[in-house]
Amino acid sequence: MTESAAQDGTATQGAAAQDAAAQGEAPLLEARELTKHFIVHRKSRAVRAQARGARRAPSDHHAGEEHPAEPELAPAPKRHHKRALVHAVEQVSVSLPAGGITAVVGESGSGKSTLARMLARLIVPTSGEILLDGRPVPASARHRRDYARDVQLVLQDPFSSLNPIHDIRYHLSRPLLVHHMARRGPELEQAMGSLLQRVALTPPDQFLYKYPHELSGGQRQRVAIARALAVRPRVLLADEPVSMLDVSIRLGVLNLLAGLRADDQLSILYITHDIASARYLADSIMVMYAGQVAETGPAATVTDEPAHPYTTLLLSAAPDPDRAEPPSVAGRGAPPSLVTPPSGCRFHPRCPHAMAVCAQRTPPAFEVAAGHQSACWLHAAGLSSAESQPLAGRADGLVPSPPAPAPGKEP
Ligand code: SF4
Repeated sequence: MTESAAQDGTATQGAAAQDAAAQGEAPLLEARELTKHFIVHRKSRAVRAQARGARRAPSDHHAGEEHPAEPELAPAPKRHHKRALVHAVEQVSVSLPAGGITAVVGESGSGKSTLARMLARLIVPTSGEILLDGRPVPASARHRRDYARDVQLVLQDPFSSLNPIHDIRYHLSRPLLVHHMARRGPELEQAMGSLLQRVALTPPDQFLYKYPHELSGGQRQRVAIARALAVRPRVLLADEPVSMLDVSIRLGVLNLLAGLRADDQLSILYITHDIASARYLADSIMVMYAGQVAETGPAATVTDEPAHPYTTLLLSAAPDPDRAEPPSVAGRGAPPSLVTPPSGCRFHPRCPHAMAVCAQRTPPAFEVAAGHQSACWLHAAGLSSAESQPLAGRADGLVPSPPAPAPGKEP
């Protein structure tokens, strides 16, 4: 499929998906208020202090000296580790219409991949609900298998998602046989050939007996997509499918996804940190920051008229060949620790527009236009003058926030 054909297909199918949403049809896949908290165990301060003391002890002993007596260690504390809660995803709702592409955009640590893994039912949400065809998905083994067939996940790294000791034939035949999509013999051969043709790996015979290390990154990702398509899914969760590929072959894989949506009415959740590719491929965009939704809306509106300072930051950092001047990036800094996230709006330590209210209360989603929402107090009416005061120390927006502590360090 050519680039323009893919774009035409994307526009037509996107309009159809938006019509379906406007007519009130139930989305194909829906997540309601999903939350995921992970418990992590960290060494307590006492244990770390004891370990530091034990490491320092040998340096006190010099060559030729009599070996000193073993120092008496303090009794080990009863609790060696303490538990901490990582607020990975909080209260996130998203819906995928049939034949629509929704992009989830955000930096590393924004909760995009955790959301995809919950939707794929690889991890269990702490709270919230997942609905397929408007109905909650039962937990029985049979329903789980049916769900796995309907909703397939394509991972970011095609090399680690393919088993290096098996050839491509094995990777494609296994889902076809396990899910009874084809019987051994000519039917299986034909099904594998047609899968490879759908992802433009032709002639199929040239690829069937190759091993993952014999393929390029783009070819490996195409095999991973073909494997997902083997069970004829209705939803594809594509977790950063092009971020590990060379820039020169990314467009080919994006056009492949657009073509699959146009040909098969496949619903796609496209997860990316690249807002420019989200604009190119998706009908709607959901921007996430530190596990929460910052902004949602039609892709063109969110990118042309961003209503959240974090979206503006992502857009200013995106490469733009037409931009003559270096980008001016407002909101430098790093994402916060998800163990102790900032109070109120989680973006307030980086936000150049932060007000007093931003550090106190979490902003709800404000409707800024039809179908366009932003979780930002800038859109609130009726804030008091005390609440709308520039946040002390952040009024000029030039003070970068401290980086998130490294894993295992005290926040
Ligand atoms: Fe910035 Fe406040 Fe809006 Fe958060 S709520 S993005 S801190 S202005």
